Amino acid sequence: MTDRTDAFIATLDVRVREIIDRCTRCGRCVEVCPTAGPAGIDTREPSAIVSDVLDILRGGGDAESRGARWAATCTGSGRCLSACDDGVNPRFMLAATRLRLNERRAANERHATGQAGFQKMSEAVKVLSRLQLPADLLASLTRSARADGGPPPEVVMYLGCNVLKTPHIALLCLEVLDRLGTRYHVFAGPANCCGVIQFRAGDTKASGRIGGNTVAGFAATGASRVLTWCPTCNIQLNEIVMPSTEAGFHLEHVVPYIAARIELLRFHFVRPVNKRVALHEHPGVAGVTEGVIKILTAIPGLELVDLQQPRVGYMCNSLAPVPAYKRELHARELDAAVAAGVDCLVGIYHACHRELCAHEATSPFKIVNFLELVGEAMGIQRNDLFKQWKMMQDVDRVLAEVAAQAVTAGLDIESVREVLVAHMLGEQPLPVGIRVAPTPEPTPEPHGFFPE
Ligand code: SF4
Ligand code: SF4
Repeated sequence: MTDRTDAFIATLDVRVREIIDRCTRCGRCVEVCPTAGPAGIDTREPSAIVSDVLDILRGGGDAESRGARWAATCTGSGRCLSACDDGVNPRFMLAATRLRLNERRAANERHATGQAGFQKMSEAVKVLSRLQLPADLLASLTRSARADGGPPPEVVMYLGCNVLKTPHIALLCLEVLDRLGTRYHVFAGPANCCGVIQFRAGDTKASGRIGGNTVAGFAATGASRVLTWCPTCNIQLNEIVMPSTEAGFHLEHVVPYIAARIELLRFHFVRPVNKRVALHEHPGVAGVTEGVIKILTAIPGLELVDLQQPRVGYMCNSLAPVPAYKRELHARELDAAVAAGVDCLVGIYHACHRELCAHEATSPFKIVNFLELVGEAMGIQRNDLFKQWKMMQDVDRVLAEVAAQAVTAGLDIESVREVLVAHMLGEQPLPVGIRVAPTPEPTPEPHGFFPE
């Protein structure tokens, strides 16, 4: 093991012991959790649920207990973060609980799960990004931070991996930074991975090595600030990886950074956007929803309406452990958007866009990312090819459209077909009006493991 991996594992152990010492089992974190109920957990004895969790963290406990299920179905909403008065981060507590449960599996099995998940994600990102971006641009985005050189940038813009499946979002984010005059170096793709897939699989060693290398790469650029796009990367680096490093930089989400400079950006809003829009929200990363509201309400002509929907999870894919509840939330939100007569339902994160965008085919409104509206106000358009192709709902039609670019990008057409089916067309649009009752779902194996 490397020093970095050793430090990661040792720090996790110390932090788990601190939780065991500090937690008073008051149960407030259970009481405020928005997904414990929809996950089918009887929350009438919150203290007992936390006791289950602490037993697992001590090395014993029951993998079938309510506490284990609470950990496996945590969607990362972060409501619990401000509920604890005893110095515990309950979201990290549950991440550590899932890890301890998954560490009960054989090391080679955990490693294989993490590796397979990483390869699947990398292949999907490779195919979908090469189909949509020119090779030289993609190469400049996906080089490793460890290969960076030159004078230190003001900030590192860390896009993560999966936003490259919907690259119009990433490009618009960079356009905004350009307009703000930010001096940044941008890194994306699996060469700059946060290690979350390995962590979820219980492969602590690989996760520590991969996440630690990425943090070290960012630190070596000399930037004092790292801006994230992806909420998964943000939570994984901030709450899991960085406590074991001396990173030397501050990590925050790019949205609050942009929102804090709204007076500069407002200057670039040269076109009115006369649209009534509603926001699709997730609360997991603090300040992001508030920042998007600040940015959108600065756009001339734009009217933002609140659909009064439950705010849960940190991105749509984080609701994977409670799939029936997710379907219900989406159906309710689409209904509410129809009733509110909006022109657009506006998402913030890339995974939400991938899941929701095809509903546009059966809705009387557009489904867009908020940066598309920012771009419209600035007079910039980036085509959303992902939505265009997904709405076709026909792999042969999409293949016919992308065949020439696939050849140019050196992609094998059968691999393209597999990725399109699994990572684009797989999620069928849910007709507006369908409601699905929240029913308990089986706990996925490994505990809390879900794809990006
Ligand atoms: S992070 Fe959110 S979903 Fe997870 S336990 Fe805390 S409140 Fe519940
Ligand atoms: S983690 Fe904090 S809020 Fe949750 S039971 Fe322990 S002391 Fe209470």
